[in-house]
Amino acid sequence: MSKRIKIFLFAIIYTLTTFSTFSVQASKVTYSKTLEQIYKSKDVYTDTQKRLKEFNKNYSNITYLFSAGKSVQKRDLSVIKIGNGSKKIFINAAHHPREYIGTILTLNQIQNLLEAYTSNGTIDGQKVRNLLDNQVTFYFMPLVNPDGVQICINGSPSYYFNANKVDLNHNYDALWFKKITSTYSTGTKAFSEPETQAVRDLCLNIEFDVTLAYHAAGDIIYWYFGQEGADKTRDLAYANMLKSTTGYSLVSPANYKSSTSGFKDWCVQKLKIPSFTLEIGGKRGITKPVEWSYYNTIWNQNKLVPVRIAKQLMSQKKFISDKNTTLIYKSNLFRQGQILSINGKQYIAEKDVTLLTGIIPESQKEELNETAIYINKIPYINLETLAKCLNLTSGLKNPQIRFIFHK
Ligand SMILES: [Zn+2]
Repeated sequence: MSKRIKIFLFAIIYTLTTFSTFSVQASKVTYSKTLEQIYKSKDVYTDTQKRLKEFNKNYSNITYLFSAGKSVQKRDLSVIKIGNGSKKIFINAAHHPREYIGTILTLNQIQNLLEAYTSNGTIDGQKVRNLLDNQVTFYFMPLVNPDGVQICINGSPSYYFNANKVDLNHNYDALWFKKITSTYSTGTKAFSEPETQAVRDLCLNIEFDVTLAYHAAGDIIYWYFGQEGADKTRDLAYANMLKSTTGYSLVSPANYKSSTSGFKDWCVQKLKIPSFTLEIGGKRGITKPVEWSYYNTIWNQNKLVPVRIAKQLMSQKKFISDKNTTLIYKSNLFRQGQILSINGKQYIAEKDVTLLTGIIPESQKEELNETAIYINKIPYINLETLAKCLNLTSGLKNPQIRFIFHK
């Protein structure tokens, strides 16, 4: 089978499976396992995947589930997108395996948002439907390190690395240095690991406005990595909001260089966006997963965090964004089979365009529709036209666009 036909068939199958799950909203959603059962499972990865698919199936009008890449052992690094707002929030958990109580917390936060959306309810006085339809979009990655979590729960409770024995939260490009011992391992180079590469590419693709990573334990908040001036003021305001929401303490900015090359460090230093590490699970260090009996406290401390972050973001004055580079970065998601190549032209499902760029303005729809094609009545948009509409003009002559077409 030629490569083009293979891609085509893959895209068709992908499309059919995605759209066949469009169903009438179930009034009462039931799940195959409770959060406690997922936490105590011997296959947290599979059960988390299952729960994300259940969210996606039952709330298909507001969610979009995709894989940002594969782990060392080829597990999916799943991300669920919730909402259609233009401001983007990324919340992840379980860089460190034994800290995977954060996975359960993020699943709970997802469920809370979806239930409030569906019932037209409020969280913290905020109408969730208005928030998700018009203001923000959440991206949750509950399991950054699925291989490590599987190793942890199957006989190595203190496990801290990925399957390559690298500490993923010391593998980002922010004052990275090489150090490999039995207890401390930053990898052979920054972004040497598929998991950190996937997180990096996701961040570059989606261009988040704020990010948050859950770790354990300590009941503390890391927020500083060398910000100055307005950026420091902006990020301290978030940090104080998180402090009052959770009751956790802020880690002092002094000596911030004593721990480097974490996810938050990279977001702050390289992306120049507000980013936070929350250490949940009690004022202590841990050498094995947090006991389930702590969970209720963790939930009560963190249930408002997503909406509070969204509110803070909506009140933020200044944003970092360089829309001219959007499509270069986004090509990474395009490579995952969402592109159709037909007669030498490339197309992307309109649904996926919305995922990547936000809602297409009515004024541009006409031009896009002229070059769109329909497969099973589903519109696919011509990439070149899309680039033009996004002001990434001059088509194939533009090196940025060429990158997309040739990658
Ligand atoms: Zn950690």
